Amino acid sequence: MPEDAAPHCDSVCRGDGETCLPQMLADWDAVARGEPGASLRAVYDWTDYPTARIATPRKDLLDAKSYLIFNPIQTTRGCPHACNFCTTPGVFGRKFRQRRIEDIVEEIREAKELYNSACFIFADDDFGGNHKWARELCAAIEPLGVKWASQCDILISNNDKLLAAMRRSGCLGLILGLESPNQQTLAEAGKRFARSADYEWRIRKIQSYGISLWGAFIFGFDNDTWRTCMETCRFAQRMNLSMSCYPILTPYPGTGVWQDYKAQGRLVTDDWDRYNGASVCYTPGSMSPRDLRHAQMAAFAEFFSLRSSLRRLGVLPFKKFAWLANLSIWRGIRYYYSRRGRHVPAFADFIHPGARAWRYDDAWAEQAHAAWSEMPEADEATLERATEALAAANVRYSDPLVQAAAAVSSTQQ
Ligand code: SF4
Repeated sequence: MPEDAAPHCDSVCRGDGETCLPQMLADWDAVARGEPGASLRAVYDWTDYPTARIATPRKDLLDAKSYLIFNPIQTTRGCPHACNFCTTPGVFGRKFRQRRIEDIVEEIREAKELYNSACFIFADDDFGGNHKWARELCAAIEPLGVKWASQCDILISNNDKLLAAMRRSGCLGLILGLESPNQQTLAEAGKRFARSADYEWRIRKIQSYGISLWGAFIFGFDNDTWRTCMETCRFAQRMNLSMSCYPILTPYPGTGVWQDYKAQGRLVTDDWDRYNGASVCYTPGSMSPRDLRHAQMAAFAEFFSLRSSLRRLGVLPFKKFAWLANLSIWRGIRYYYSRRGRHVPAFADFIHPGARAWRYDDAWAEQAHAAWSEMPEADEATLERATEALAAANVRYSDPLVQAAAAVSSTQQ
């Protein structure tokens, strides 16, 4: 949104810096030299120029100590797909681009030598957008003996050779944008390349190569209710995902969702600070904003609970980093709610409106709950029973004992 940035500067570059920044600097130079007719454009849009090659950043200009992860490396830009909630097509264009493999290898080699880095994040939207190229890159980095993680689409599960090459080259984990295990929600999200019915075998196959998975889901599509949110969380548990996240659908400007909601008059704010994945910036189709937030936090609390972590991660082999991340998030959630004197949200709250977790402090929530104030408060035992009943109805954990019991009972039938 260059028009938002324009009041704060002389000139705005939109899109790839490699493409439009040199044009802006040349004009700036010409203006500084007082060349006749020279002027600075208000907006330098990268689509007005031939697309430049993806450059290697000058990391020597940065202070390594100021960064938690100093070596994110971009190997690709863009994504061959076009999901209608995603900013990637708007930011990087529809053309999927790959960096020169020798540049990437050189950047990794230099980071190893200068900063002793052995673990890298490939900061891509879709590392596996071009399977042939991804295999070539994996082959090139295999001799470097590094570890890495990235983000890609689930279609890499079609390609065993690519999965094997990724693992051999040091791939530890991947973030998969799954959005939902519900086919109607996927259709609404414009995720046309994936079918939810195939998610399970695809996930299991990627995991069989020793690659840990982080599932990225989204809550708040029109098809979503608290039950579909709960089923999504259960699905993440059943798939033994190491990590998962449940941001609220955010209609970022430039996305298809934003255009649709704008046309339907459903955007409730243009305060960009609230476009953060945690606030509800539009009128949801099937849930109130409060219920949507509650379902989001119930999913986080449920997925990262100790019982869930134990079932998903197991004990041996001990997954140190996954355990550390899971326990940190669980502690963070507990701390957040205890500081506010509130109960941690649970899906069971939705079947008992008197649950204490609904008792928000602010006036808005009190007003929303006035109708429920007459209801008897649910005690802990009732909520625990409700949680167990919901879990029994929805969870088939991949707990080895549960699987064995299921196998025995199916042979007996
Ligand atoms: S959500 Fe993922 S697959 Fe879809 S357009 Fe964005 S980056 Fe590509």
